Amino acid sequence: TMDQVTDTGALARQLNVDPYWAPFTSNRRFKADPSDRTMISAEGCYFTNANGVKLFDGSSGLWCTPLGHSHPRIVEAVTKQVRSLDYAPSFQVASATTIQLAERVAEMAPEGLNRVFFANSGSEAVDTALKIAMGYHRLTGNATRTRFIGREKGYHGVGFGGMSVGGIVANRKMFAPGMVNGVDHLPHTYDQSKMAFSKGQPAWGAHLADELERIVALHDASTIAAVIVEPMQGSAGVIVPPIGYLERLREICTKHGILLIFDEVITGFGRTGWAFAAQRLGVVPDMITFAKAITNGIIPMGGVIARQEIYEAFMSGPPAAIEFCHGYTYSGHPMAAAAAHATLDVYEEEDLFGRVRALEPLMEAEFHSLKGEPNVVDVRNFGLTAAVELSPSAAGPSMRALSIFEAGLKQGLYMRYTGESLAFSPPFISTEQQIKDMVAILRKLIRDAA
Ligand code: PLP
Repeated sequence: TMDQVTDTGALARQLNVDPYWAPFTSNRRFKADPSDRTMISAEGCYFTNANGVKLFDGSSGLWCTPLGHSHPRIVEAVTKQVRSLDYAPSFQVASATTIQLAERVAEMAPEGLNRVFFANSGSEAVDTALKIAMGYHRLTGNATRTRFIGREKGYHGVGFGGMSVGGIVANRKMFAPGMVNGVDHLPHTYDQSKMAFSKGQPAWGAHLADELERIVALHDASTIAAVIVEPMQGSAGVIVPPIGYLERLREICTKHGILLIFDEVITGFGRTGWAFAAQRLGVVPDMITFAKAITNGIIPMGGVIARQEIYEAFMSGPPAAIEFCHGYTYSGHPMAAAAAHATLDVYEEEDLFGRVRALEPLMEAEFHSLKGEPNVVDVRNFGLTAAVELSPSAAGPSMRALSIFEAGLKQGLYMRYTGESLAFSPPFISTEQQIKDMVAILRKLIRDAA
């Protein structure tokens, strides 16, 4: 077993990687040299890979482990749960832990959003929200409202629904025939010539929300169910909403009876310094999708928080009839719910959203100090996230970012790369020194790659 292996390099050499098909990865690149990328253990803010290199987790895994790894409170809660109620279905019966979690999530959400439907991932949360939106309109006499409006560069997971409203071309082009009908997209808000090196929210770009008026005029409001956007685009590389942009989207949606969905799978549960980015930005959507940080990423969980009116619209028809024929075998899994309670306890007791707010100026200053380093063409930051955009290399698309990512795995830093960007979302429990050290390693990696 893993515990008996002391020579981790030997383990890596023994692994047969052939049957493994890696998600969102160059499989050929991975399999050519898997040991740097093969994680053996993790504790606190660090992974240890098969070469025995200790890596600072600069991206909290996939933006999902703000408390770091092996947090004792979560380990304890999950262990206790598996012994008392390891599983209960969520169809017709329910686990008490899960019911309590719904109450807790509703309390954390913006006022009016107080009905919580559980799923197991961001992708499932998004597909659930889209179905709720379509069902809501049908039940309220607006059955023609079936279109969804997403946004270029948006990422809403990889289900057919989320893919259709998503706007990352590489994720879509192979599957065009499977697209949900009638989806349109807002333009993205990124313009390097207007906003490079903006600190926090860019001043330019609010007017791009008016494109929604154009799209509504083209299709007619009576055909549109919902607009879905990430308040801050994460997977596209930390694209921060221009000042006033989301406010304007909200106004236009309200004016035309269109539901506004914030996909807070990355921003939910503290990443921007508040429970939800909706609260930080003072813009309240009609539904919020969440996943990732609710359980500190250690057991999959996702879900949708809806306005009470949306829920109430479903409570019609014969009183014993199932109102929403949707759900997953593992919706609100008790193990995930237990992990979530422990995670939320720690966020609360240690005021970690406050800590994110306190660390944000340091994060901003450290990352913006990379301006002027070779090939750095933009730095973006928001909450405890940042991205460094590099000029493309002659070696091909993403190759500069990829080579920095790979060099990081040898020099003690795990990060995300996407397109020409390197993206960072360190654990909330990071010390100031760890953030400084992360940026120091990054600076060296950027110089070495020049
Ligand atoms: N929505 C957003 C905004 C995301 O960032 C992600 C994942 O990164 C998803 C949805 C999909 O989540 P999952 O990978 O859990 O399906």
